[in-house]
Amino acid sequence: MLIPNSIATEILHHPLWENQGIELSIKRLDQVHAQASGNKFYKLKYNLEEAKKQGKTTLLTFGGAYSNHIYATAAAAEYAGFKSIGIIRGEETLPLNPTLGAAQSHGMELHYLNRSVYRNKKEEAFIENLKKELGDFYLVPEGGTNALAVKGTAEIMTEADAGYSHICTSIGTGGTFSGLARSIGPEQVLIGFSSLKGDFIHEEIYSLLTQFQIHPKGKIEIMNQYHFGGYGKHNEELLDFIRWFYQEFQIPLDPVYTGKMVFGVLNQIKNRSIPAGAKVLLLHTGGIQGLAGFNQRFGLSLPL
Ligand SMILES: *Cc1c(COP(=O)(O)O)cnc(C)c1O
Repeated sequence: MLIPNSIATEILHHPLWENQGIELSIKRLDQVHAQASGNKFYKLKYNLEEAKKQGKTTLLTFGGAYSNHIYATAAAAEYAGFKSIGIIRGEETLPLNPTLGAAQSHGMELHYLNRSVYRNKKEEAFIENLKKELGDFYLVPEGGTNALAVKGTAEIMTEADAGYSHICTSIGTGGTFSGLARSIGPEQVLIGFSSLKGDFIHEEIYSLLTQFQIHPKGKIEIMNQYHFGGYGKHNEELLDFIRWFYQEFQIPLDPVYTGKMVFGVLNQIKNRSIPAGAKVLLLHTGGIQGLAGFNQRFGLSLPL
């Protein structure tokens, strides 16, 4: 139902890493699909198939007002012929920001819940009530992480990626990291860069690996020192980095996920935590849709 474009992997040339004997490449998952880009394509793919199998005609999911997941669910649902409902955290703000505006233009029906009610999003009784109010739906959880999402993200790495020694991704809920952990080879190191502040992410990841019975063949590492103040937070250093990266490579990064991850990887290279001879693969997980809203909100003009 969702058919991927072919994905390019580009080698990035720069003395910052080449002088240390490190090869750095980036896999452009952001180009996998015009509607559902980046890791969200992989997370939604099998969920859409399952929804169709169950005979559902509507997808419902949860998210914040700038959520890449909300946008991708709206776009993918429309593409695959589903109706979609987005339950948005917080009050309605008009005019709609670019993310919600785009979601709505892809046919998503938006409902708003204040933060305290929104917290019930995982409660069965609450979901049943939503079904009574809004009609039947296939539920995609907030952030999109479930067993079928992990099945999808396990397909991000292919045989062509077997030669990389280090695979780097950003972490939100950890669904993408978990799928990658399932697919790395014994000689590979998977490094996840958390966009959220706090040590909880270690436990979160281990509970996902347990839940989905994932036993990584290679080594996994989680970095949580590159959150820049927390989820959705940023500073000038991060924005300058994103501008620099675009100038050098003409590849846009977003300030919520990929910007922090690539910053972290280059910092790890600078620290010599990634050894000479390493072949490093950055996964560009997407998120570019969020840049318009980010620019508007903070009066910036980051490249997109
Ligand atoms: C959603 C998202 C992530 C986080 O993915 P998880 O599976 O929730 O960890 C990373 N990068 C981008 C660009 C995203 O949109």
